Amino acid sequence: QKSRANDYVHEVYELVKKRNPGEKEFLQATREIFDSLRPVFFKHPEFMHNGILERITEPDRVISFRVAWEDDTGKVQVNRGFRVQFNNSIGPYKGGIRFHPTVNSSIMKFLAFEQTFKNALTGMPIGGGKGGSDFDPKGKSSREIMRFTQSFITELSKYIGADMDVPAGDIGVGKREIGYMFGQYNRIKGGFEAGVFTGKDPNHGGSLGRKEATGYGCVYFVEEMLKGNGDSFAGKKVIVSGSGNVATYAMEKSIELGATVLACSDSSGYIYDPKGIDVETVKKLKEFDNKRIQEYIKFHKHAVYHEGCNNIWTVACDIALPCATQNELEETDAVLLIANGVKAVGEGANMPCTEEAVHALQTSGVLFAPGKAANAGGVAVSAMEMSQNSMRLSWTVEEVDEKLQVVMKDIYKSCYDAAAAYGAPGNFVVGANIAGFLKVADAMVAHGI
Ligand code: GLU
Repeated sequence: QKSRANDYVHEVYELVKKRNPGEKEFLQATREIFDSLRPVFFKHPEFMHNGILERITEPDRVISFRVAWEDDTGKVQVNRGFRVQFNNSIGPYKGGIRFHPTVNSSIMKFLAFEQTFKNALTGMPIGGGKGGSDFDPKGKSSREIMRFTQSFITELSKYIGADMDVPAGDIGVGKREIGYMFGQYNRIKGGFEAGVFTGKDPNHGGSLGRKEATGYGCVYFVEEMLKGNGDSFAGKKVIVSGSGNVATYAMEKSIELGATVLACSDSSGYIYDPKGIDVETVKKLKEFDNKRIQEYIKFHKHAVYHEGCNNIWTVACDIALPCATQNELEETDAVLLIANGVKAVGEGANMPCTEEAVHALQTSGVLFAPGKAANAGGVAVSAMEMSQNSMRLSWTVEEVDEKLQVVMKDIYKSCYDAAAAYGAPGNFVVGANIAGFLKVADAMVAHGI
């Protein structure tokens, strides 16, 4: 039985590799999930008869389209837009839209694939999707961003809807861009379909607590994981990569739970503040004024700015929260963190640690929370936004936060239980992959072939 299951996983991986040549990130995400799933096929050979791995690794559809727009000089620019509708077995496709020059088919597919399992883990009725464009918002005027976003959504509007596919933000897309998308969608459709996007401003259908949700959720998950080991955030030294939405609110919650955040970064470099990062300054610089993190030292003279964002991992800490982007924490960084005594790593971003880094952390006994579980709080509150939109009411921020805490504790428990049941106690990567997979796979089997 064991060798049949191993052969099956191997064969399907070879097939996925052949079908997605050169798609490095997508193959990386697939490899990680397949490695975790072997024990599932020992126990449930029936999944093999259903060809579940072949089916679950092939997106329902990949939409790729031209986005033409006019810049401020009157020149016509063209970018490529994507929406990957990966799996809708447990609910409408759900996932963010990323505007970043690195966006390509592999990155879109890996994100949509991971999103499918992450969304399943939330326990909410949402399928997996992701979209984006290689458009670089850096240095663009607000009018250019509006024109680009309107052109993007004019094409995408054909494929989305409150019961079909519900986009939200991601890197480079915040409530301003969601506002432009929502406005253009409503102009095209001629109505007010609040549930078609999440991450909206609360004054036109957004949920209170959504912008804090990913960062807070990540800290709630890591706090649960620490608690399981008789520990907590109180008195700990934390470093957080990034300074966007996820990083900002991960820092805020870490501090609220009694930790000191020593460093945060942006794509140019990182700030080290021995007195502890002042989150209000970060919010002012990044959330409101769109400035570089380097300017932090203007307000806090004792803080130091270092060029090179990846060097943030040289700062000694107890807890590291990578909240910037994929593959930002490599094996050498992990080795350094371990040597400096790190106790826990929680992924606020999607797949920020390379496979080798995860392996190094886990084999040294560092508690490791994978993104699928630890950053699911954002999409969980997005699902709550969909519920509020359907009911045409809004919950208070306290109600949302309370529900978020319950969701994160439940995710922790499902991961913990699945890892223990399938022979990998304490391994949250295995636990998250198995628990997410089982939910989606059961639904796929129930729906027939
Ligand atoms: N982009 C976020 C994620 O990676 C949020 C997605 C959503 O709210 O739909 O989960």
